[in-house]
Amino acid sequence: MTLKPQLLHDSRCLLGEGPVWDHRSQKLYWVDIESFDVHVIDPNGSEHGVINVGEYVGSLCVRGSGGLILALKSGFAALDPETGEVTPLADVESHLPGNRFNDGKCDPAGRFWAGTLALDEDHGEGKGNLYCLHADHRVELKAHGVWISNGLAWTRDQKTMYYIDSPHRTVRAYAYDVSTSEIADQGVAILVPEGMGYPDGMAIDSEDMLWIAHWDGSCVRRWNPRTAEVLATIEMPVARPTSCAFGGKDFDTLYITSASTRLSPEQLAAQPLAGGLFQCKPGVRGMPMTEFAG
Ligand code: CA
Repeated sequence: MTLKPQLLHDSRCLLGEGPVWDHRSQKLYWVDIESFDVHVIDPNGSEHGVINVGEYVGSLCVRGSGGLILALKSGFAALDPETGEVTPLADVESHLPGNRFNDGKCDPAGRFWAGTLALDEDHGEGKGNLYCLHADHRVELKAHGVWISNGLAWTRDQKTMYYIDSPHRTVRAYAYDVSTSEIADQGVAILVPEGMGYPDGMAIDSEDMLWIAHWDGSCVRRWNPRTAEVLATIEMPVARPTSCAFGGKDFDTLYITSASTRLSPEQLAAQPLAGGLFQCKPGVRGMPMTEFAG
């Protein structure tokens, strides 16, 4: 099945990433990592706002106690989107000034997981880590030796976590214990073939299938992680879709972020919507994202 998205906002992000639907406010948040911006938009695309947080912002999640939680270069922090005030919660990698946070998401128990990468990505193999921020703001190292820590997803039965390391083109499966947050590596679930781009961010739908943004692959694909089969393709008008999330009133809309960073003038001329925010109704629903419990 082949699907086409619509442009929701011509936001021209450098590195648009990490869409999160806030079902309380019925708005979508996302980040522009390299512009240090948090974006927010209503589902009609008419009310759009930007908050500059002054440093790399890899990902965000809605916080149950109000506002947002951010994975900043300097660590985990809270953001009040009404005032723009940023409050540090936990220092994580201040001993690694060459690293920054990247993709993150809350697990089914409301812990916020986010990973890091080396700013010098080409020489960053093994330099990234995956962390879990517990509700009491304790930070736990969950995986190390990662290259570009990216998409995360948990299955509906809360027993499996999927995790992407982009340059290795892998989606790994982990046995996951929701009561303790412990993970156990079960190996590669999907190895994205060469020529399909790199797996970046992802969303999981109500049938436990993964919607994966293919960086430099000009598409978002629906994968069955148990068989490594492609089930559907959203053909994007941009080469670098970065991530996706289900949202909308009925969770029937897939919101897709994209990047324009490091494209040549010729490439930018060929894909003028690069960095924009897109939407697509793929015919399957997602589920509400868990809010951060701390
Ligand atoms: Ca990403």
